[in-house]
Amino acid sequence: MNMNEQEGMKVLKFGGTSVGNAARIKHVGGLISERKGNLVVLSAMSGVTNTLTEISDYLYKNNIPGAQDTLNALEMKYQGVVAELYDDAKWADEALSVIGNSVGYIRALIQGDFAVAEEKEILAQGELVSTALLLNHLKERGLNAVMLPALEFMRTDHNGEPDMKYISTRLLRMLDMTEEADVYITQGYICRNAYGEVDNLKRGGSDYTASLIGAVLESEEIQIWTDIDGMHNNDPRYVEGTRPVGELNFEEAAELAYFGAKILHPNCVLPAKLNNIPVRLLNTLEPSAPGTVIYNLPPDGDIKAVAAKDGITAINIKSGRRLVAYGFMHKVFETFENHKTGIDILATSEVGITVAIDNDTRLADIVDDLKMFGTVSVDQDMVIISVVGDLHWHHAGLAVRALHALEDIPVRLVSYGGSNYNISVVIPKDFKVQALRKLSEHLFNSNPQ
Ligand code: ADP
Ligand code: ASP
Ligand code: MG
Repeated sequence: MNMNEQEGMKVLKFGGTSVGNAARIKHVGGLISERKGNLVVLSAMSGVTNTLTEISDYLYKNNIPGAQDTLNALEMKYQGVVAELYDDAKWADEALSVIGNSVGYIRALIQGDFAVAEEKEILAQGELVSTALLLNHLKERGLNAVMLPALEFMRTDHNGEPDMKYISTRLLRMLDMTEEADVYITQGYICRNAYGEVDNLKRGGSDYTASLIGAVLESEEIQIWTDIDGMHNNDPRYVEGTRPVGELNFEEAAELAYFGAKILHPNCVLPAKLNNIPVRLLNTLEPSAPGTVIYNLPPDGDIKAVAAKDGITAINIKSGRRLVAYGFMHKVFETFENHKTGIDILATSEVGITVAIDNDTRLADIVDDLKMFGTVSVDQDMVIISVVGDLHWHHAGLAVRALHALEDIPVRLVSYGGSNYNISVVIPKDFKVQALRKLSEHLFNSNPQ
């Protein structure tokens, strides 16, 4: 295909629940055939990446029968999908052969030595199979559908960041050498690393694949099709009566994704923002619902939504001397850097600093090192609750409104002013649902149960 044909192309990403069974795959097939000329990024069928993780866990524990049982159950699930999905034996046989190869490949790995590289190979199988199932279904529908194998163009560099130059060169060349088709399909989530080994973009990473591809193709729009009608104003898993937010700007969407709104992978916003490509969140089961559009929305003084991030640890370091003495902050930050642990949010006072982190794998070493600079205390099992919107400090009263909703909740840390888009608090996890509900009542006038 030539450059002109690529121009009007959209990237359509369908998540796991959108292709969770044969009926859903058929439904997605219908949506795709109504929107020809686009590039589809697909996740594994829902539950499959979890199953593959489970198989890997058994193998790390050297429980071969556990891995075999789990794999056999997955194979049967796939066979059931094939039986329901295709009318023509030709396509069913093709799909069964892909499944047979994938399952055979995992069986071979079960027998050998097992380490991270093998785990990554196993995790990649979910997207390799789901894309093959959809491709054959689209062909059975009579569409000219073409597979663009992600392992041939998605790549990360030595820092684990997407290698944009490589991705762009390889993908554009691949499209250039491909005949024009009704639809192009590729795997979300999976990639190769700088050494050429199979790797992935972390859980939920198919959204990231879609925005990286959107950026490379300078796509007109990136559509994230999922099981809900857009970004809701609170987490629908914990609060009833949430409503979709029609519009968000890139910063607001990035803050919500980073602070726990699972509908979007946290890394997915940046490539779209840098290239000014709108991201539209749409519902596969309700395709005509407007959903949410994320773009360069000008400031509007509105609080948009609330999110919660689990698994937070708050660490307080009280300085023996005055905190403001220069050098203290540097030493504290350097300690986290040395242990490759990012800081989510923080608060300071004259005598101390409290930071909140979401990765506690190095906690013991971090605490050990921090003890050189002051008295350290740790609170685990915390959550970050973030209120996101156009919270520029000039809008008097917005921050107070958010905090007022939390009057009955013990708050460990407050962070405001780091950006114009967010006020965050750290609270014990047992108060999470209460806090989310109170925020919906106060900020969005809804009556959550
Ligand atoms: P997919 O499999 O399509 O990638 P995900 O499960 O990753 O879908 O994301 C969609 C889910 O995100 C929704 O079903 C919902 O439970 C959850 N979610 C969490 N917070 C929000 C929010 N603020 N708005 C919408 N969905 C949310
Ligand atoms: N299949 C992967 C996961 O479950 C990637 C994705 O769905 O975005 O995390
Ligand atoms: Mg997801």
